Amino acid sequence: MPDNCIFCKIIKGEIPAAKLFEDDELLAFQDINPAAPLHFLVIPKKHISGPAAVAAEDEPLMGKMLRIGSEIAKKEGFEDFRIVFNNGAQAGQTVFHIHMHILGGRDLNWPPG
Ligand code: 5GP
Ligand code: ZN
Repeated sequence: MPDNCIFCKIIKGEIPAAKLFEDDELLAFQDINPAAPLHFLVIPKKHISGPAAVAAEDEPLMGKMLRIGSEIAKKEGFEDFRIVFNNGAQAGQTVFHIHMHILGGRDLNWPPG
């Protein structure tokens, strides 16, 4: 677990976060700078630097992120939402611990404005 990873620090409780879900494998929490009325992140507790670093052994974990994230969105009252993963700085990735954005509650036409 890299010392300088902000999301590993959230997992360890060293940085506070508004948590929505936690189990032994995953954590979901509100994005600190929401881009929509619904905007939370789902992360694995395992440090994976981004989508391109997902290994075959991580495939069940990635599916669980989709299931849990969708269940949280529904529980928060959102049937329609967008799921985003950024890979690489040029694509907007700023935190190099894989995270799934779930956004909802505004016009979600693609591409984003
Ligand atoms: P990225 O741009 O890497 O896909 O997304 C990183 C996201 O993490 C951004 O939406 C940003 O607002 C969020 N973020 C960065 N630092 C923190 C933090 O310390 N706490 C929380 N809750 N979100 C953070
Ligand atoms: Zn990390």
